[in-house]
Amino acid sequence: MIYRGKTFLIVGISASGRSAAKLLLSKGASVCLYDDCPIKDIEPLLSMGAIDVSGCDPGQLFCQDIYLVIKSPGVPRENPVIERALGKRIPVISEIELGWYNYRGTVLAVTGTNGKSTVTALINHILCSAGKKSYLCGNYGVPFTEYCLMSPESFCCTEVSSFQLEDCYEFKPHISAILNIDKDHMNRHHTMEDYIMAKGRILKNQRRTEYSVLNFDSGLTRQYFERANSNVYWFSGRQRVRGAYLDGSTLRFCGERIIDARELKIIGHHNVINSLAAICFGRLLGISASDVSCALSTFAGIPHRLQYAGCAKGRVFYNDSKATNPASTLTAVRAMRDPTVLLLGGSDKGSDFVGFFRELSGYPCITACVLYGNTAERLCAEAEVAGFDRYVVAINMLDAAKKAYTLCSEGGTVLLSPACASFDEFNNYEERGERFMGFVRELMKNG
Ligand code: ADP
Repeated sequence: MIYRGKTFLIVGISASGRSAAKLLLSKGASVCLYDDCPIKDIEPLLSMGAIDVSGCDPGQLFCQDIYLVIKSPGVPRENPVIERALGKRIPVISEIELGWYNYRGTVLAVTGTNGKSTVTALINHILCSAGKKSYLCGNYGVPFTEYCLMSPESFCCTEVSSFQLEDCYEFKPHISAILNIDKDHMNRHHTMEDYIMAKGRILKNQRRTEYSVLNFDSGLTRQYFERANSNVYWFSGRQRVRGAYLDGSTLRFCGERIIDARELKIIGHHNVINSLAAICFGRLLGISASDVSCALSTFAGIPHRLQYAGCAKGRVFYNDSKATNPASTLTAVRAMRDPTVLLLGGSDKGSDFVGFFRELSGYPCITACVLYGNTAERLCAEAEVAGFDRYVVAINMLDAAKKAYTLCSEGGTVLLSPACASFDEFNNYEERGERFMGFVRELMKNG
């Protein structure tokens, strides 16, 4: 694509929007920046030649000739600027798609409702440990366009969300994975069909020369097989498949032993499954079984995902702030062995908590839940409907942590796995997790 002399409009100036702007400016394009909120730290972009058009009337914005719109994942399709662009038949793409137009290396892409960051980081760890030039990017951490000018020998391990995929058209990873599908983001996708379709776009352009890695254990992910034109490999925690699977406690790839589950550093059955998905990538890229095994045994996980936060006064604390939907919280609950007090709450994503509490009733290790934040009222109401009464209410996250600590008996666990987004009280889940870790550190200091 020729960029010079063309004008690009970036809607939503998040990390990926900024990165896209820098790439386009470096290629000689004209760049307009639009955001509903004042753009933080805009000076460097302005000094490179970008123009801030935030606050302009959407009609006025399109008086000039806009070649392409880059939409940040946080911006919904119903945004008036996006609606106006689509009405004028101006292509709207994601930053991932822009990265794809520019990158000459090997793209490895992972999507799914839960486990994306863990699996993407694990694949990157396997490649780096094997001495490959590999970068971790996408929805987690650094935007793809930051690395898209890297050499053709490099690998980009890219986490892609449904919001990014819905604006991808030509994106074609060498290996893609769909880890699992659970109800999530219903405030943006409205229907499950829409969500399933958006995730499926990761496979759309792949052909027999590319690979797709799919979860065999779920009907929802198995159905993608019908749509895939690629070479499909599976992973399964239940049965032998063409791909990676669990055989007793051994993780295998096409019959070959890779590692024993007890040698993994990351805890919980879900992380065994995540490891199986990553094994497929490693072996399909020709990394030896022993190198894959060695990398798996040294991977300590990533922050805010069932992260050990410390032990204070005989109570163990886990920070699972990244669990922003009921399915991921249930995953953390399944990994608990000792009596556990669970912190739940935050901002609403339209999740179903009745089903969640019904399922939680089947876990006697959850001795109490502390409900807090914007969702506290709805959580209480839906707990009642589900007949779940092991709960108390707190004002905010810190108050919830204090209450959880007092409710937790010695030898027990306090688990922050909120099943909700964090935006009612925090800028993001990292900030929420940090606050919780800070609370635990204080307790430990005073203990
Ligand atoms: P994502 O990037 O998709 O949000 P993460 O790797 O950041 O996923 O993990 C988020 C949370 O999802 C974790 O804290 C864990 O509770 C849950 N989780 C991780 N892997 C899985 C999995 N394979 N299946 C179900 N839940 C998972």
